[in-house]
Amino acid sequence: MIPMVDLQRQYQQLKPDIDAAIQDVLNQSQFILGPNVTALEREVAAYHGKAFAIGVASGTDALLLALRACGIGPGDEVITTPFTFIATAEVIALLQAVPVFVDIKPDTFNIDPEKIEEKITAKTRAIIPVHLFGHPAEMNAITALAGKYNLKIIEDCAQAFGALYHGKKVGALGDCGCFSFFPSKNLAGYGDGGMIVTDDEDVAKQIKMFRNHGSTVRYYHHVLGYNSRLDEIQAAIIREKFKHIDRFNKERHEHAERYRSAIKRTDVALPIEQPDCVHVYHQFTIRSKNRDRMMAALQEKGIASAIYYPVPLHLQEVFAGSGVAGNRLVCAETCAMEVLSLPMFPELRQDEIQIICDVINRVS
Ligand SMILES: *Cc1c(COP(=O)(O)O)cnc(C)c1O
Repeated sequence: MIPMVDLQRQYQQLKPDIDAAIQDVLNQSQFILGPNVTALEREVAAYHGKAFAIGVASGTDALLLALRACGIGPGDEVITTPFTFIATAEVIALLQAVPVFVDIKPDTFNIDPEKIEEKITAKTRAIIPVHLFGHPAEMNAITALAGKYNLKIIEDCAQAFGALYHGKKVGALGDCGCFSFFPSKNLAGYGDGGMIVTDDEDVAKQIKMFRNHGSTVRYYHHVLGYNSRLDEIQAAIIREKFKHIDRFNKERHEHAERYRSAIKRTDVALPIEQPDCVHVYHQFTIRSKNRDRMMAALQEKGIASAIYYPVPLHLQEVFAGSGVAGNRLVCAETCAMEVLSLPMFPELRQDEIQIICDVINRVS
């Protein structure tokens, strides 16, 4: 059996440190917004060269609070990709703003910057580029458009902690960078968690207020907020893993190179890494018209694989009839039919990659 992600292997590797970190929190018994949240915020801000980092309850809340702090509200249009996890667009609609979907490029699966400008209207306020599967979106083009039309950029970095675009960390390129610490992400806890990085002091202050019931002084509430704090035990766990993040990402990268040289089929498009980008391979996602046969063959051998994502967001039931569906988005729709993500995690072994590729190579 080879799973998509085996969280046990990493836990066994780091067990003494993680167990001690959890025990420490229990001993101190400061469970909400304690010293580990503060320290992790400082560490993640420094890693990204940003002035502020704010821990929140999930990656979804990171996006929601960042959008709200950037002033996005009812009637505003926010441009994003249809080929992502639902959370990216869900938060736009939850704020009664309108998600406007722009098609993707089939080689990186990221938003196609050439198709953004035609979707910009007088109501457009922001762009959410997603660095999908760990590959940076084309931020130079996106930043130029944002400058021209005075739009905010909220980066969805849920799958791309540590990825580099022209030498800079993703999340440090827009107004806000939003991260998820969901257990299967590159940098993760053992539960939900998220974080926002920003240089904007006012935005940081608002997010801190939002995450804590709209309050800065206890029992005095300025605005409607949420209960959306990063948990102290999760922060302690994430801090232990954060010490190893660059190695974890490097190991993923090495696995990707092994997959790349061991897959010999001409009917498979391998994931690319654009010049001046460092991909962190949250997923290793191939594309093939014979995807379903490959998936079945892998399953027969006890090897997991997954389709991220089977239904692009503009075709999801939740957005049906809401008027956000708009035109057909051909690349996203084609990719949904052809993508296949293979097992990928730092502790994956070379012999396992070879077994997976042998199965794929033999499918007729
Ligand atoms: C996981 C994910 C999110 C949401 O993160 P949660 O921590 O699960 O709320 C948002 N966007 C993308 C692209 C994701 O992969």
